[in-house]
Amino acid sequence: MTVRWNSVVLLAGGVGGARMAEGLARALPSGSLTVIANVGDDEEFYGLRVCPDIDTLLYTLSDRIDRGQGWGVGGDTVKALDVLRDLGAPTWMKLGDADFGLHIWRSWRLREGDSLSAITAEATKRFGAAAKILPATDDRLRTRLDTDEGWMDFQPWFVGRHCKPKVKELRFDGAGDARPGAPALAALAAADLIVIAPSNPLLSIEPILAVSGLREAIASAAAPCIGVSPLIGGKAVKGPLARLMADLGHQVTSAAVARRYGGLVDAFVVDAGDRADAGALEADGLAVLSTDILMNGPPGAERLARELLEFALTLPVQPGRAA
Ligand code: GDP
Ligand code: CA
Repeated sequence: MTVRWNSVVLLAGGVGGARMAEGLARALPSGSLTVIANVGDDEEFYGLRVCPDIDTLLYTLSDRIDRGQGWGVGGDTVKALDVLRDLGAPTWMKLGDADFGLHIWRSWRLREGDSLSAITAEATKRFGAAAKILPATDDRLRTRLDTDEGWMDFQPWFVGRHCKPKVKELRFDGAGDARPGAPALAALAAADLIVIAPSNPLLSIEPILAVSGLREAIASAAAPCIGVSPLIGGKAVKGPLARLMADLGHQVTSAAVARRYGGLVDAFVVDAGDRADAGALEADGLAVLSTDILMNGPPGAERLARELLEFALTLPVQPGRAA
């Protein structure tokens, strides 16, 4: 039944995004999934460019991922990091030896003048990843946080300080000047379905939407757009989302997440236990799929993807809406 979908675009961050991407890649015909990835978490370490969300997508979609932690390369060692520690360098960012290989190659290619898009496309091909991965932008975009300890870059807050400093405000530096790549705009215009992964809305999806023109490209696409909640019973499956939403004065509910995507999503997927959210979103005029939204391993992710794709067949296509 799900064969109707020939070109699906997924907006994604790291771990939650990659799980959804893997489920969709398993459920869809090969070659039909394009992922638009967050780059707001990107950071330089020891002169090397690290793109945590792209890397998690790459490793997951090529079955190199450390399945236990959901990021990094399975079975990786940390000899390079040990040497860096011996040499007195800060080593709070956990970069494995195999991981370093990718960062060295990417940084070398960037210095040779290649774009992040071209580099990511080549890595995707060479690793045999099961979907295309497009950075939301090739331009510089960095998530910064105003905390009770002052302004911080994302990785020092997230990894360095384990999300402890309380967040008062988020900013996506460079978003106003950042332009989406032509392939991302083309993929959205040609999509027959757009999916917003159950990624962190504030830290993974909103930096993508902040890239000039991307939000508009999604809103004007003919394809229906469906989001998946990252919250189950008001709790994040993993990570700082619930606390961050509370710190910033938002309700910690699936309905509140969906409303942040107001004007973009036609439908939302919430957990079967979250009945109040389903009712609230239906009252807002959204189509709602209530089901088990926990992705326990690749088969569980595929099960959720198949249910989502089946449900999305009931959503209207709006050809007149295409720009
Ligand atoms: P990050 O960039 O690595 O932080 O990852 P994302 O932003 O892509 O995803 C983080 C979000 O994924 C968290 O808020 C989790 O609640 C959510 N998440 C992780 N696993 C699952 C899952 O199995 N089901 C759902 N619905 N959400 C998940
Ligand atoms: Ca991330």
